[in-house]
Amino acid sequence: MLKQSLADLAIFGGAREFEDPKPISNLPRPSFETFCEYLEIAYANGQLTGGGELVARLERRLAEFHDVEHCVAFSSGFWALAAVMKTLSREGRSEIVMPSLTYRRMADIAGWAGLKPRFCEVDPATMTNTATCVLPCLNDDTAMIVGVHPINGLADIGGLVELASARGLPLVFDSVESVYECFHGERIGRFGRAEVFSLGASKLLNGFEGGYVTTRSDEVAESLRQTLLTPTTSLAEGSVKFNAILSEVHAAMALACLDDIDSQVIRNKGRYFAYKSGLRGLRGVRLLEFDESDRPGYKNIIVEVMPEWPLSRDDTIAVLNAEMILARAYYPQPLHARKMGFPHIPCSLPTTERLATRFALLPCGELVTPADISRICDLLQFLSKNGEAAKDRLAKRQTT
Ligand SMILES: *Cc1c(COP(=O)(O)O)cnc(C)c1O
Repeated sequence: MLKQSLADLAIFGGAREFEDPKPISNLPRPSFETFCEYLEIAYANGQLTGGGELVARLERRLAEFHDVEHCVAFSSGFWALAAVMKTLSREGRSEIVMPSLTYRRMADIAGWAGLKPRFCEVDPATMTNTATCVLPCLNDDTAMIVGVHPINGLADIGGLVELASARGLPLVFDSVESVYECFHGERIGRFGRAEVFSLGASKLLNGFEGGYVTTRSDEVAESLRQTLLTPTTSLAEGSVKFNAILSEVHAAMALACLDDIDSQVIRNKGRYFAYKSGLRGLRGVRLLEFDESDRPGYKNIIVEVMPEWPLSRDDTIAVLNAEMILARAYYPQPLHARKMGFPHIPCSLPTTERLATRFALLPCGELVTPADISRICDLLQFLSKNGEAAKDRLAKRQTT
């Protein structure tokens, strides 16, 4: 329904634009038959415990997909990161360099692994921690560098690889948001000591839950496998192990999703282009564009809410949420600004703090159609014209 006046906005009591929520999660649903065909393999061979034939197949397929020697599956991206931090960080040293504008659990994982986060800035243009951002954070106690791929592009792979190698430091990438991307024609997955991916339902590759690590190194793959507690593992004195094995059901789903990934990316591209045309000419909301030469997965839709836009980023999100458009802040709070119950290095990061107030994720993924997107963009156009009045009314509402 086209909004005619402010009173038509759901936040002021009007009817919602959508009955069903429009999420920012990807939620791909591969063919149910394909999922069942994979699952049937586990049923037939009777191996129902995790890490069976389906997990082995998934690891092989993912290693091929990323054109890399090894893939080790985990029960989540979270535990894959934990294993990487625990096993690959330099012994006898305690600091881990990571961006603050990133995945909200990144610092907690470091704390769990016994490492002290030292937060670095991000480059304002790409929102990723480039070598220039990381360099001032390195010292004699640096145990690891984490490079994080931003959600609509690539990390500074070349710069970070060079810096880590010059300093003899382990470099790992959180590559969760760049599963499909290529760097100089090579798919992500073979850079640094290891790269970490997620199979969560909100991501490009959906295994309901799950994660994996890719690496070119036999030694790294072996030490990661050693952290996984299997039914036959014996616990050596002092070793750290945890049960983070991927289950066969999750592997079946991820395999089915992998079969469908190229067509999913085509659908994502359609959604991205629907936003591109719907937001054209809208003053104050800037769509962050994908670089076509990276061969992106076109999953995330992220916009910058500029100073000339009438509403604040957070008010805009509140207005959209009331319409069942589940836009979200990217990121609502940088990690260094949070309370942490473990050792870390306090800092102030002006660029990160400024960027954390400006960006929003808009609905994307398989539950959102190009027609939905056109309605979302119409609503933003309406807000652009009526934003000043909406701002006054929101302010009044907050004071009463
Ligand atoms: C989702 C996410 C993770 C964690 O993956 P899970 O499988 O959900 O544990 C890590 N890093 C980034 C950048 C993410 O977006």
